[in-house]
Amino acid sequence: MSRSPSLPDRPRLDLDPEMSDAERLEAIRKHFERLVQVNRELDDRLNDARGRHQELTGDVDRLKRRNEALKTSSLYVATVEELTDGEAVIRQHGNNQEVLTELDETLAERVEAGDRVAVDDSFSVQRLLDDETDARAQAMEVEADPDVTYDDIGGIGEQVREVREAVEDPLDSPERFEEVGVDPPSGVLLHGPPGTGKTMLAKAVANETDAAFIKMAGSELVRKFIGEGSRLVRDLFELAGEREPAVIFIDEIDAIASKRTDSKTSGDAEVQRTMMQLLSEMDGFDERGEVRIMAATNRFDMLDEAILRPGRFDRLIEVPDPDETGRAEILRIHAADMSVADDVDFDALAAELDGYSGADIAALATEAGMFAIRDERTAVAEADFQDAVEKLEEAGDNDVDEVPGVTDYRY
Ligand code: ATP
Repeated sequence: MSRSPSLPDRPRLDLDPEMSDAERLEAIRKHFERLVQVNRELDDRLNDARGRHQELTGDVDRLKRRNEALKTSSLYVATVEELTDGEAVIRQHGNNQEVLTELDETLAERVEAGDRVAVDDSFSVQRLLDDETDARAQAMEVEADPDVTYDDIGGIGEQVREVREAVEDPLDSPERFEEVGVDPPSGVLLHGPPGTGKTMLAKAVANETDAAFIKMAGSELVRKFIGEGSRLVRDLFELAGEREPAVIFIDEIDAIASKRTDSKTSGDAEVQRTMMQLLSEMDGFDERGEVRIMAATNRFDMLDEAILRPGRFDRLIEVPDPDETGRAEILRIHAADMSVADDVDFDALAAELDGYSGADIAALATEAGMFAIRDERTAVAEADFQDAVEKLEEAGDNDVDEVPGVTDYRY
């Protein structure tokens, strides 16, 4: 924020009793001139301040309007289960909570059991959703202002640097690319084992550039929205255009962009159509625009070469499991808000966690905190971290897919 320059000093009149009348008159005349000058300077300052005040009032009004719009626009999606006289039992998606709510007269005439509706915080039905809006809402996760920052990401400094260069710079300073006459990378593909911070990287870059974060999970497209994949991909790019600046993040892109197989089942044909739509959206895409595309996969080996061609995902960034120093960094990040006893040595602990991903370390920190709470202590001690390691590793013996150190990295 700019600081105002300091105010001119207030002129002082010092009259020496020894002065002659003429000298005194001259001193008073000079003092008067100085007063007039300071007055003029203060007038100018006042005018500047009034101008700035007007600008800031404009900003405040704009922010207030935006705030109101944000407050009023967040609605939840629910399904109408049953209808009674003017009332409906609705089930909110996500938490499956069932609520009885009154319907407004005009809605009561139109709503039928099985319809999808948008409800506000007090479960009052605001509108009837058509199928299209509903699928869009479910298939895409939109965060206007994600709260992940680069400081929340540990152990992958080099990858952070590469992402900033490939995604942040073209959004922040497109003119630099124009001046030099090169096109920024079209799409950035993050590949590596699960839970290493790929989604965090995409969110952090959106946060840093004040861009909206729009995520679509490839696996959901093929599992939940059968027959709608290609339309949803088109919608995804359309939505990003409406919300620009925006970062599109396609997670588990392997689900829609795997190597072609010879199988002719209708499911495969549908996946192919979805991928073709993605390729055509990327081909028709303005690389210098305000929308950046990122994707992630932990099945890099499965990807169809077509999506890696120039103009498509042409910047590949590998995000590996963290090394020992990285693990210590991630431990410190996740313990930053915890009250930790002096005996905890993060470096020594990190050395023991070979094979742990960032997500495993986050789970470990939470688990250690739980041990301290169970013991009614206010600080997490070294023993809690050790108990947490043991617990997670025991769980690992039972469930290979979810466990640190023994995760099934098909990657
Ligand atoms: P997936 O491939 O399973 O989607 P991902 O690589 O996208 O995983 P994230 O979703 O970014 O992983 O990470 C999951 C959680 O793990 C994060 O919310 C964070 O708590 C923790 N985490 C993962 N990597 C890191 C990291 N490098 N630094 C700090 N925390 C991390």
